Amino acid sequence: TRVLLTGGNGFIAAHVLEVLLARGHSVVTTVRSQSKANAIQLAHPGIANDRLSFAIVEDIAQPNAFDQAVVSDPPFEAVIHTASPYHFHAKDAQELLAPAIMGTTGILKSVQANAPFVKRVVVTSSFAAINDVYASGAGKIYSEADWSPITEAQANDSPANAYRASKTFAERAAWDFVEKEKPGFTLAVINPPLVLGPIVHNLTSLDALNTSNQRIRDLLSGAAKNRCPPTGNYLFVDVRDLGLAHVLAVEKEAAGGKRFFAVSSHFSNAEISKIIGEEFPEYSDRLPTGDALKPGQYPADGVYGFDNTRAREILGVQFRPLRESIVDAVKSLLPLGADK
Ligand code: NDP
Repeated sequence: TRVLLTGGNGFIAAHVLEVLLARGHSVVTTVRSQSKANAIQLAHPGIANDRLSFAIVEDIAQPNAFDQAVVSDPPFEAVIHTASPYHFHAKDAQELLAPAIMGTTGILKSVQANAPFVKRVVVTSSFAAINDVYASGAGKIYSEADWSPITEAQANDSPANAYRASKTFAERAAWDFVEKEKPGFTLAVINPPLVLGPIVHNLTSLDALNTSNQRIRDLLSGAAKNRCPPTGNYLFVDVRDLGLAHVLAVEKEAAGGKRFFAVSSHFSNAEISKIIGEEFPEYSDRLPTGDALKPGQYPADGVYGFDNTRAREILGVQFRPLRESIVDAVKSLLPLGADK
């Protein structure tokens, strides 16, 4: 299948790209600059131009940003839209809302207008579009049936809420688009919780380390020794399984019209710390212990559950356990000086 992948330099998209290439698909990926395209190209020396090439889309928040990128010869049959800002330092909610929502509706519009052979569009949403962060959660089992009730007003309360709202509103806009426009493609949405695991993308510096792996760097460097960071949400998925889930959502007819809650299991930052200590004992003295570990533990009143049946049964993904994710994440981060 000929696939357009957005944001190919991202933590998750880099894995989606690996899986697409390994399974024989041909890919054009969008990045924001030629230097990012060059870095991806360099990492794939054996792959011919007709299987991997690039389109520059500088800012997905701009109207018609994807109008050119969706056009290809031979034409695209599928699109995977992962590009969207994921960070917790927005000064204004619009910094996240605009690229998330405009990027998602923008690519759907461009596909509808200019890419008539596209049969499936896969969008990367989030657990943030599923869970209710103001509910304690204990006893609740989250699944694809749940939607975050976050409001536009709450989006302005904090950078974290701006991110949650950006994912919720962008996913809603995608479903609204297909319902209203009845385009020639079907939509499938992947909703991951926190994504952990090895990086394959070419980082120039650890400052650019994606948000979800920053907690591992902080444990390895000793920055978390006096206070294990709070976990945030207590579910994770390995980035390799998530990459595969995106590709299976392109390949499987039955994935059309569905969201997929792609989750492996529960985790806490305290557990990550424990695994690092056991697997990499040379870093033990940098890790939080005793009271310093407490902020990273599960809440005393319990934590919500999850149902990943649909992702396992329809997509057929088997989810890796936390230990494997952490060990491989650490091994990929150490050569970059994550322990410095
Ligand atoms: P990264 O920060 O590694 O990747 C984000 C990608 O989006 C990058 O390619 C980035 O380009 C691109 N991007 C952001 N803003 C713009 C913009 N305005 N114009 C063009 N491109 C833009 O994050 P992840 O790989 O972790 O995230 C990918 C997706 O997964 C996002 O949709 C995120 O919401 C979602 N997600 C991530 C989770 C996680 O734990 N990591 C959990 C749940 C969902 P550049 O690098 O050039 O800025």
